[in-house]
Amino acid sequence: MNLARTSLKSMINVKNTCLACNGLLCKSVKNVTDTRFGINTPYMIAKCEDCNLEQTTPLPGQDELNRLYENHYNYGGERNTRYTQLRAGFINSFLYRIWLAIDGDISFHRIRGTGNLLDVGCNEGRGLDFYRSHGYSAEGLELNSKAAEVARSKGFTVHGSTLESFSTEIKYDVVVLSNVLEHSLNPVSMLQHIHRLLNTNGHVWISCPNSQSWLRSAFDRFWINWHVPFHIVHFSPDTLNAVLNESRFEVVKMSQETPALWVAHSIIASIFAKPGQPTRQLRSAPLVAALILLIRGLFFPLLWLGNLGKRGDCLVVVARKI
Ligand SMILES: [Zn+2]
Repeated sequence: MNLARTSLKSMINVKNTCLACNGLLCKSVKNVTDTRFGINTPYMIAKCEDCNLEQTTPLPGQDELNRLYENHYNYGGERNTRYTQLRAGFINSFLYRIWLAIDGDISFHRIRGTGNLLDVGCNEGRGLDFYRSHGYSAEGLELNSKAAEVARSKGFTVHGSTLESFSTEIKYDVVVLSNVLEHSLNPVSMLQHIHRLLNTNGHVWISCPNSQSWLRSAFDRFWINWHVPFHIVHFSPDTLNAVLNESRFEVVKMSQETPALWVAHSIIASIFAKPGQPTRQLRSAPLVAALILLIRGLFFPLLWLGNLGKRGDCLVVVARKI
């Protein structure tokens, strides 16, 4: 790195540099707004000139994020609606297991094994149910006290601390980050803390949106997985691999899936999302179900080809601690 470049970097606020390598950012996608909740703040997606990692810009502060999560996520945003009740009924049914085999398993709900497992951001314990019934001794980490209480009522140990301050006597064989890492303001630090919590040869299971998805190209700023400002980092296979290596993990397996639900959500957002207004259609059970069946039934070759060409919508990764 030359001197001029170094001094230029030092003049720029740290928030305007890459979260992984501190490199300079350039514009990638302009004028991206929330397409779900009606948060009317424009953001931009910026790309690091050094490592190609993309991130939401400007970065929201931690206090702002805490407030947004409280208002819109988990029990703060949606509780006991018809949509959530139908979703819970579906996930608890045998049909869901068949669906995972057809549509892809982005939450590791089909993996069987043994050992201690920690699900980071376990919410009300939906994943913990699957991990326990598939042989793991499963625990959760969840900051939302109401969601954590629901998981505890099912008999799970759920820790209420942040990952950074979390310590425990036992070491884990598996740590799960199911659609979590992209929410982090410091993904390298998050992975380093997971490294600390794992046994020798322990694994981290990660799923997150793929910034090289063909749906990103098709829907541009309406791609549902920009999900600003909640999604901070937007990983490609290469940038995720680099961040894992920097945190002393090696990728054992990386595959791609394209859940029909995510395609349906991108279609709905591109048609109905309006700045400053919640997109109610995303929670219309008949509309979402009809689109999912249509997409999975008619366009399955397209989804399959996208995954095969490494342009699927979701990265599904198993990485080992080194
Ligand atoms: Zn970078």
